[in-house]
Amino acid sequence: MPKRPSTPPCAAACGTDQRDLVASPPAPAPTAAPAGASPTGPGRTAEFDFDAHDVVVALTSGGKDSGALVHEVCTQADAAGQLHKVRVLHCDLGTTAEEQLVEWPGAEDIARAHAALYAALYDVPFAVRRSARWPSLWERMMSHGRWPGHWATYCRSDTKTAAGRDYVDEVGRELNLGRPPRAGYAMGMRAEESRARAKKPVLEVHRMTGKGTLRRVTTWLPVHHLTTAQVWDTHQHHGIPHHEAYDLGMRRLSCRACPLAGAKDLVRSAQLNPALFAEYAAAEPAMGQFKPSISLAQIIERARS
Ligand code: SF4
Repeated sequence: MPKRPSTPPCAAACGTDQRDLVASPPAPAPTAAPAGASPTGPGRTAEFDFDAHDVVVALTSGGKDSGALVHEVCTQADAAGQLHKVRVLHCDLGTTAEEQLVEWPGAEDIARAHAALYAALYDVPFAVRRSARWPSLWERMMSHGRWPGHWATYCRSDTKTAAGRDYVDEVGRELNLGRPPRAGYAMGMRAEESRARAKKPVLEVHRMTGKGTLRRVTTWLPVHHLTTAQVWDTHQHHGIPHHEAYDLGMRRLSCRACPLAGAKDLVRSAQLNPALFAEYAAAEPAMGQFKPSISLAQIIERARS
């Protein structure tokens, strides 16, 4: 059995596809689903109850899974006559000390375009938010003093999850229901990405719904069942735009330099983003080696060769 890559806990907002199996659009052939995940998968058996929720926030990084996710949420919501409940959210990760975007330039534009596709049906609101505490992921990492890793995913929880939680509260205040809002929170995780993700339920109460909090949030993974090939098919069939980084050989989006990404993607990203990788590399002596398996200096060296 081939060794499957592990996937960081980032969901739609992290591009979800840290180590996808298919590189660029359009996908040439379906890829195999992991053990326990059929092509139709668990996503087909769990239906989101729009009537039981006041709002549905679809989280988009601007990546391909996010494009399929926004399509699925809006299509299902429209069929249920509930498209007016949908909001599309992009979490902005800010810039480095040298004012370079942490994410891919243009990712926000693609995220906005994902929401705009449904404007003919309804003017689906699109919002961009940042963590209230951390102006950028770069500042958060420097403050932590160590790069994120599989056992230290503070990067996501302190930026994207925090911004998403605040946005749910913001919408709750705006709705002014006189009771805690009931929100759906749709993310682009897919079973194919890893065994851990294959086991994730399509619907579950999110950790945003904590003791002492007023909000009630249901996590929804509407594209959990899709293979990478099916994600690209969805793009092709519905005219969903994708970021040009995919055409340049990237298999993931979101952070341009992610310690949890595969070396191949990092080398390609370093070729496309030399100034950003130089800045990250300059921080490596203080922050420790970027990945257990490879340093930034080695990534840059490979990118040049
Ligand atoms: S560095 Fe960025 S892409 Fe990587 S896990 Fe953290 S938030 Fe996600």
